[in-house]
Amino acid sequence: MRYRLKNPESEKPEHPSPIQPKLCTCGCQTEFIPRRTNQLYLNAKHRDYHYNHGVRKEKSKSVIGTNKVLNKNLRLLSKHYESKANKNSIYLLKILINQGFNPSQFTGISLYEGEKISYCYNYAYQIILIKNQEHIKIYKYENS
Ligand SMILES: [Zn+2]
Repeated sequence: MRYRLKNPESEKPEHPSPIQPKLCTCGCQTEFIPRRTNQLYLNAKHRDYHYNHGVRKEKSKSVIGTNKVLNKNLRLLSKHYESKANKNSIYLLKILINQGFNPSQFTGISLYEGEKISYCYNYAYQIILIKNQEHIKIYKYENS
């Protein structure tokens, strides 16, 4: 009788896996046994899919939203600046706000002699108080 080495694998008692299967976070409904306790996705493909269709979509949505606001601001700044009725281009801020101007969105900002100047493309504006009312003074930069 020859002695045969038993396959050690087959002798291993079956332990239930301490890690419970979970559902892939991407929404594909695939159940998987995580290799690490903090694994959220079946694999990198599912993670990238979720990123591209979730997070990135949200990001581009907010970029589109911001561009919309900036374009609206630009149209209003241009319209009021070009209006010949007011040579100094100073308007009550609430008039522009009522027309959809959003002073919280700008393409740049700087301080000039302690005054805050906000930029919207080739326009700039300053919020100033005249008789306790907020006014907006609009400047234009000519493209050189
Ligand atoms: Zn998935």
